[in-house]
Amino acid sequence: MRIVLISTPIGFLGSGKGGGVELTLNSLVSGLVSLGHYIDVIAPKDSKLNENNAKIRLHLVEGEDQISWQHQNYNSPIIIPDNSLLAGMLEKALEIAKQADILLNLSYDWLPIWMTLNLETPIAHIISMGSESSVITNLISKVYAKYPHNFAFHSKTQVNDYSFIKRPTIIGNGFNLGNYIFQDSTEGPLAWVGRVAPEKGLEDAVYVANELGEKLNVWGFMEDESYALKIEQSFPQRTINWMGFLATEKLQKELGKCRALLNTPKWNEAYGNVVVEALACGVPVVAYKRGGPSEIIMHGETGYLVEPDDKKALISYLEIISKIKRKNCRAWVEKNASTNIFAKKVVNWLNEVINEYKKN
Ligand code: UDP
Repeated sequence: MRIVLISTPIGFLGSGKGGGVELTLNSLVSGLVSLGHYIDVIAPKDSKLNENNAKIRLHLVEGEDQISWQHQNYNSPIIIPDNSLLAGMLEKALEIAKQADILLNLSYDWLPIWMTLNLETPIAHIISMGSESSVITNLISKVYAKYPHNFAFHSKTQVNDYSFIKRPTIIGNGFNLGNYIFQDSTEGPLAWVGRVAPEKGLEDAVYVANELGEKLNVWGFMEDESYALKIEQSFPQRTINWMGFLATEKLQKELGKCRALLNTPKWNEAYGNVVVEALACGVPVVAYKRGGPSEIIMHGETGYLVEPDDKKALISYLEIISKIKRKNCRAWVEKNASTNIFAKKVVNWLNEVINEYKKN
């Protein structure tokens, strides 16, 4: 297949602003290319891909970012800025669409989903978040009624936000296992990884570390500085070790030294890449049973799941974390979430979408 992949219109690939979508896109590109497909990636200026290959073409587009949906009100209208990056990326995609078998959209926004109704070339959407906007959710509902095959989701729990989806396509996510080295370090510090933003619930993990009299190593893109400051001021000085936003190679090296990852989301996490990345390094995860992580973590085998917002339960399970065999964590990722497994699921789904268009 010749696939046109439309990236997120929030931050260039490598900036961290796009969150998990950046990793999903890179993982897809590697997986699809190794299965023999050709990919055109449309992405914001300054984006870099992890893989260089004659089958991949990168098209860079300049313009104004969209505002991320998790930071707008649920009922906000769609805002398209002047010199819109999203519109520019879609124009580029349409320009090359004629040579392509399918467009694959990774942006959680209105315009590309609306285009489904008006385009002859098949366009498929990987929905990267739960329902974060009424106008987008309503549009998905409308488009789904006519094109039920064109949407895929990362987890079953994510789809619960979209009650009108009757037979969801669940694709999980994929990770290039060669990028993560297993470490058997059971005595290390506690870790937390994610965008530093309210929906990620960092404050609960800091509470836990403080109760245990430990420091918490925090890696991730600093999205909301006032939120970070507020947490810092609520706990004794230096409870948080700010480790910054690192490229995967460095992140996994540091993360692998930790004895556990805390994952404490406050929203319906669509998937939770950082959970799988920790597991790939052999790091067990103690998480709230909320969103994707509740489907990823095998309670008692690769970590522990606790009732959402129960901070005391996080502490109890951290106390017995050494019961988890770190090899089991890595093994789960190898068996369930490699780049290859992910790409195959996506290819099956895309073929289904293309076949539906051929029928009509
Ligand atoms: N990440 C990273 N470097 C860091 C911290 C995080 O590259 O120092 C990446 C991580 O690999 C993951 C993404 O940030 O892919 C966060 O994705 P996740 O699905 O956990 O949450 P999202 O930000 O999409 O809500």
